[in-house]
Order: sequence, then C-alpha cells, then structure tokens
Amino acid sequence: MSSSPALRPETVAVTAGRPAHVPDQPLNTPVHLASTYVAGGELEYGRYGNASWTAFEDTLGALEGGRCVSFASGIAATSAVLDLVPAGGVVVAPRHSYTGTVLQLDDRAAEGRLEVRYVDVTDTAAVIAACEGAAMLWFESPTNPALELADTAALAAGARAHGTLVVVDNTFATPLRRRPLADGADLVVHSATKGISGHSDLVMGAVVATDDALVERLVGRRSLGGAIPSAFEAFLALRGLRTLPVRLDRAEATARELVDRLTGHPALEEVRYPGFGTIVSIVVRGGAEPADALVLRTSLWIHATSLGGVESTFERRRRWAAEADTIPAGLVRLSVGLEHPDDLAADLVQALDSLD
Ligand code: PLP
Repeated sequence: MSSSPALRPETVAVTAGRPAHVPDQPLNTPVHLASTYVAGGELEYGRYGNASWTAFEDTLGALEGGRCVSFASGIAATSAVLDLVPAGGVVVAPRHSYTGTVLQLDDRAAEGRLEVRYVDVTDTAAVIAACEGAAMLWFESPTNPALELADTAALAAGARAHGTLVVVDNTFATPLRRRPLADGADLVVHSATKGISGHSDLVMGAVVATDDALVERLVGRRSLGGAIPSAFEAFLALRGLRTLPVRLDRAEATARELVDRLTGHPALEEVRYPGFGTIVSIVVRGGAEPADALVLRTSLWIHATSLGGVESTFERRRRWAAEADTIPAGLVRLSVGLEHPDDLAADLVQALDSLD
C-alpha cells in the first residue's frame, strides 16, 4: 500500500489545527476565554495553555515543519530565545536586523548578560568564522530593511560545526517561501503580527523548533515570563494564517510588477527586491528630505511602520534612531498589500514624479 503524499502548504494552512470532523463540532477552534481549568488535566491555569493557542501553533508548526510555541509578540519570542544563551555567551548577528532585535541584543550586552558579534550576513565565510565559541547565530533572510539574502543551509552547517545554535527570524519570508528548519536551523522566530496574521489588527509572536528539549525550554520561558498571547488574538492570527498562501501569491505578484515599473524612475537611486515576498525597498535620490516628502504625498499607500497587512504601507526606515547608519537615509520600505497593482503603481509614481 502506498503512503499518502505529503500535503502541500496551501492545504496545510487550511486544514491543520481544526477540531475533529465529528457531528456538531465547530469547524474552527473557538476562542477559549479561560484563566483557570478544572484540576487534574494538562492545562490547570491560563498561563500554561489554551486551546486557541494550540490551534494556531499546530498550524504554524505544520507549515514550518516543527513544534510551535506562541508568544505575546515577536519581540517576546525573541526575548525567550535569547534567554537560551548562557550568561556571558556570544551571539553572532547581522548588523542589518530588525531594530528591536538589535536593541535587545545591545541592551543585554550592556548589562553584561551576553556578547554580540555583528556581521554581514551575506559574507558566509566570515559569519561561520565568527561562530567560533559562539552560543547562538541569529539572522533574518531577507534582512529588514536591507533585503539581503543569507545562505541559510551553508550558515547552519558551518555554525553547527562550531556547536552554535542557529536561529532564523523567518518573518519576511514566511514558511511559504523559506523553511529554515529544513535547511538545518534549530529555531525559527516569527513576528506573527506581520504576514502570518496579515490584517494589521494584532501583535503576536511564535518560535518553532524540532528538538523537544528546546521546545520544552521555550514553553518554560513562556510560563515563567508570562509573555502569553491572548486567546482572541491567537484565534484571529489563525484566521489570517488560513489565507496566507493566497495573500502572499497575490501581493508578491504585485510587488514584482511594482519593481518593474519603479526601476529606472529618475527620483530613485535604487529598487531592492530579494526575488520573492511582499517587501520592496526603494532608495530615494537626495536622501531623507525627499523620502520624507514622498511618504506624505500618496493617498493609497499609508505612511505607517510594520508590514505584511492586506493594505499597502511604507516608511523611511532611518526615521527610527535605532536603524543602522549603513541603511541609506533615503531608503523607504514598502509593504505591498492586496490593492490593484495599477492603482498602487499610479499612486506611487505620481508622488515620485512630484519630487524635485
Ligand atoms: N522580527 C521582524 C523581522 C520584525 O519586523 C519585527 C517587528 O517589526 C519583529 C521581529 C518584532 O515583532 P513584534 O513587533 O510582533 O514584537
């Protein structure tokens, strides 16, 4: 008898994390509002478990190929993972990472809790060399907002040879475009606030791992630290995750079209796109001033931070003091949503045309 083929991600996104198909069961796991459970079972208390978290975790875990632990935010997930670094341990990380991650690494380093070695994640040999004696290698691919790509499989193999734990923040790629655990990473981190939930209406995070001992340590960090998601947000995040494959396909096609239409515009020095995903970075000629003008001259594109929603948003990243000074002052990060590509292009091009 032949075994059934592995389900495609589009099918997993829709079918995982559902109640059993038996009469009168709801199709979706309801929002479980509970601080306490009748004693004698596995849950006991609301900080230790919730069926609405589990439904979300089962689905994201199945997509990433591991066991998922959800958190109150992406940065809470980051914090729980960095808690795995032993006191005084070394973390290797790219300078071009989400600012909140860099701030958290620098904060811990300033308190003497760990040491950070910043690297250029595109220089595979240098990153692997920096892993010598390091407890953890942390990176994003594509990086935020430079959109550089890392060679995850090579980095994971090299870091592993040094006994270094490999963590990939997969927020930009999502499990539909990259599956770092299959490439040898130990842990995947998500800001589920972004494309995973996809509607700019909640803040949530997750970590996925294959090693049971690591998963148990993360569950322990969540229970002790208390950075738990709300049941309602977990429900909404799963509702968003169900449509990630179609949202991603559509927004990605629009992103590609925008890249084609914007490349060569005289107001732009550069259009950066890693070849997949919904994030495009443009570098406005003349730096901060024209870039700040650009983000105020559109009607569809919303000037806002964050990304991955159904609505298109953009912002100049260096408006944040913590952004790396190696990011061009005029770099504007676009998060492409689900509006019609012609409307998005027209709105952006008229704003670019209006710049001196
Ligand atoms: N990782 C990346 C790549 C991000 O862009 C962000 C937030 O912007 C985070 C992590 C942090 O996630 P959250 O804002 O959900 O705490």
